[in-house]
Amino acid sequence: MKLFDLHCDTLYECCETGKHLRENDLHINRAAAQRYEHYVQFFALFCGAYPPESQKKKRSCLLDTPKDERLARMLQTAQTEFAANADWLTLCRSGEELTRAAESGKAAAFLSIEGAELLPEREGALDEAYDAGVRLVTLTWNYRSRFGCPSAIDQNEGLTDGGRQLVRALDARRMLIDVSHLSDRGFWDVCGLTDRPFVATHSDSRALCRNSRNLTDEQFAEIAQRGGLVGINLYTPFLVRQSDSVLDDAIDHIERFIGMYGEKIVALGCDFDGCDQLPVGIEGLGDMYRLADRMLALGYREETVCGLFYDNAFAFVQKML
Ligand SMILES: [Zn+2]
Repeated sequence: MKLFDLHCDTLYECCETGKHLRENDLHINRAAAQRYEHYVQFFALFCGAYPPESQKKKRSCLLDTPKDERLARMLQTAQTEFAANADWLTLCRSGEELTRAAESGKAAAFLSIEGAELLPEREGALDEAYDAGVRLVTLTWNYRSRFGCPSAIDQNEGLTDGGRQLVRALDARRMLIDVSHLSDRGFWDVCGLTDRPFVATHSDSRALCRNSRNLTDEQFAEIAQRGGLVGINLYTPFLVRQSDSVLDDAIDHIERFIGMYGEKIVALGCDFDGCDQLPVGIEGLGDMYRLADRMLALGYREETVCGLFYDNAFAFVQKML
């Protein structure tokens, strides 16, 4: 079983807590990754919000770092962790590098930025991020920024002029645009600005779970029609309105999207280490084979399951990067 995941916050956890990717009590570590025949992960560089008072002592809090130095600090964490894991994990910046990693048997890491406000406010900041290996930018996180408004604040407020410029700049560099967290208005702003396929790295179906973070059927159809990609998020509040979630709840969201001509569009964006409530039976990356087993037991074709777990995202990266 191969696994390709579009979003995790593990590097942020490493940066804030001093834990390390190789061995930890987080959702993602070497032992979990090595359960898979090949593993590809988009690691998000992220800044976050102030933690609850109870957790504060355990965190160094990136928000206490001057704004324009936060990205550098996250990149430093990424570089340190990747160097310490070079025996099994390699940073990739293109489809070609991904192919080489797969052939060499090494897991592949891509870098993304979650919340474009992590970019320093200076000329050339996006190029600096690109040069450091960043290939995907999630335009907003949960707060209004100089780039636009997230779904968590106001669905009717879209991109700012800065956000529009950013979309064009991402296009010009052939970097991936991620609309997870973005408001509905912002989503359609992006559609008006670019003809390229784009992604929602970690969002589920709003028709099944009425959460502002989830995609409407119209939004999913737009992404599908462009040949984009949607990563299924395993955070329980995005899967079900109330109660705990189980694997079948995640499969309902997968089914909803696949049923809308999305067989090649649906991937995984589990949100590991960015969420604290997962479906029963999933404690982290190492348990993801259970989702595959359950889908096969329900009668999904192996091709469908492999598409969701790996092949769709692999093909997308080959096409786009
Ligand atoms: Zn997120």
